[in-house]
Amino acid sequence: SDEQAAIQGRLIEESRTPAVTRCGLEVPILVNVESPRDLQAIDAARVEGVGLFRTEFAYMERPTFPAVAEQAEMYREVLRHFPDKPVVFRTLDIGNDKQLRYFETPEEANPALGWRGLRLGLHWKDLLLAQIQALIEAGDAGDVRVLLPMVTLLDEVRETRALIRAALPPEMKMPPLGCMIEVPAAAMALRDIAPEVDFVSVGTNDLVQYLFAVDRDNPWVADLYQPYHPAHLRVLDHIAKTCTEAGIPLSVCGEMAGEFEGALFLLGVGVGQLSVASPFVPQLKALIRRFSQGELEELARAAVACDSAEAAHGLLHAASQRAWD
Ligand code: PEP
Ligand code: MG
Repeated sequence: SDEQAAIQGRLIEESRTPAVTRCGLEVPILVNVESPRDLQAIDAARVEGVGLFRTEFAYMERPTFPAVAEQAEMYREVLRHFPDKPVVFRTLDIGNDKQLRYFETPEEANPALGWRGLRLGLHWKDLLLAQIQALIEAGDAGDVRVLLPMVTLLDEVRETRALIRAALPPEMKMPPLGCMIEVPAAAMALRDIAPEVDFVSVGTNDLVQYLFAVDRDNPWVADLYQPYHPAHLRVLDHIAKTCTEAGIPLSVCGEMAGEFEGALFLLGVGVGQLSVASPFVPQLKALIRRFSQGELEELARAAVACDSAEAAHGLLHAASQRAWD
């Protein structure tokens, strides 16, 4: 209707400024990007940066490995689209559902539990180092940050940091290095990992898969894939508390961050910023402006104390509905 179109137009207009809670806390909303081809559809003025650039899609869309110079140019293109804003490049997260035609790895019985993400990068170091080299070169075009996918152990982070350090000229500063939390063991060991990184980003899509032992793409067990189950909410609460204590910035880039219920919960446990698909940005910013931090904290406490996903989702949903009314 005309009225809906007018409201949507206003939300889009208002999304050009950062979201601020009723009590004055600014909540940066960043965007998830899958491919450089998506850039034209994203208005950089509506977001505070890129919270997740999934580099694997650029590799998947070609017949062979891109050379370092070619990669660097692609990363520069992304950076130029977001002048003066941080862009978080996630290193190659292939394996399992995301394969490269031109990179064959040994057959695995359980690929989701096998060679994925950083595990591949630390095995085929040339691959990781070529990408790091390209990201460093692209650093002249903007604010590059590096995010490691599928981190399981503290040692993996240390090893990667040392590799990057060794690849840099001695006088050059390390780019900010972050780790994704997608593996429950890493979530529970975050107290030890946090001091080794500059930021943390939670991948709830995989965290739910590994926490519930349920394939994120298997329709037969989709009932068991429950982002709002208190077991997952309590892990998120633990992650947020650990990052707060360590003084490490925390973001969430899984799908949950783009849902009204998810965003309310995550901000309530103390997540500092959200990274979401671009269509969700205007409404998400409008929603955040209707809450105070105290209200969000109270909601999150209530959700964590629930005994089912239905109950937790229900109370978060009711709060978002009330806000829209
Ligand atoms: C996630 O796992 O939540 C995530 C953001 O990464 P991807 O969906 O690319 O695995
Ligand atoms: Mg993931």
